Amino acid sequence: AEMAAVLEIEGLRKTYRSRRRGTRQALDGFDMRVEAGQVHGFLGPNGSGKTTTLRTLLGLIRPNGGRMAILGQEVPAALPSVAGQVGAIVESPQFFPHFSARDTLSLLAGAGGVPQTRVMEVLELVGLRERAKDRVKTYSLGMKQRLAVASALLKNPKLLILDEPANGLDPGGIREMRSLMRDLAASGMTVVVSSHILGEVQLICDSVTIISLGRRVAAGPVAEVLAEHSGNGLRVRLE
Ligand code: ATP
Repeated sequence: AEMAAVLEIEGLRKTYRSRRRGTRQALDGFDMRVEAGQVHGFLGPNGSGKTTTLRTLLGLIRPNGGRMAILGQEVPAALPSVAGQVGAIVESPQFFPHFSARDTLSLLAGAGGVPQTRVMEVLELVGLRERAKDRVKTYSLGMKQRLAVASALLKNPKLLILDEPANGLDPGGIREMRSLMRDLAASGMTVVVSSHILGEVQLICDSVTIISLGRRVAAGPVAEVLAEHSGNGLRVRLE
């Protein structure tokens, strides 16, 4: 039997209508499938529909059509029951600069009904244990991004969704984010990471879905997809 996908999207459609920007079809029958234990790259140029897809998946936007399932359960209907198994960062979280990382996570754990013992565990996972007592304002951007990942890991999710986690990071920060994602996948977590940078996805991911103009244009193991599409000049222009 075919193994159940951690994430399945079929024929997803979303049209934005605004007075200022008019009508815009952001997703035009988009498909995506992610298997367990993968770091899956969600690759496409700016404006191709990545953020819309991720926000729709998390129930923040209502689609106009199509279906989605997380861990075999239809969303958004089943979101309340799968929510505890999904960690997501779809916009840069704002932390109180005068709080330490530990206090920040301690508050979030308290609010989310997560045991306080989990706080130092997740700080260890993201490599911030040594800096746990330092105020967030002393953190680099890369450390703040990893603190954001730590906050998404509090619930020990099966699926972690990150929208452009490497955005704005220097090469060292990108390396650390990359090894963090590899470690999480090695521990059995499934990670979906969006990016508009081909090289980044190549370095980080096992498999990839490429989106352009709200449609899937390629998907599969990262090496295969990139080999197949580099010759004919990837219809998608990235960066
Ligand atoms: P980026 O990397 O820039 O976030 P993206 O791939 O995530 O790009 P989306 O943000 O999903 O793309 O945007 C897809 C399309 O929908 C774009 O053309 C965008 O201009 C449009 N769009 C997004 N949000 C809205 C909105 N609230 N109202 C109208 N149009 C929108």
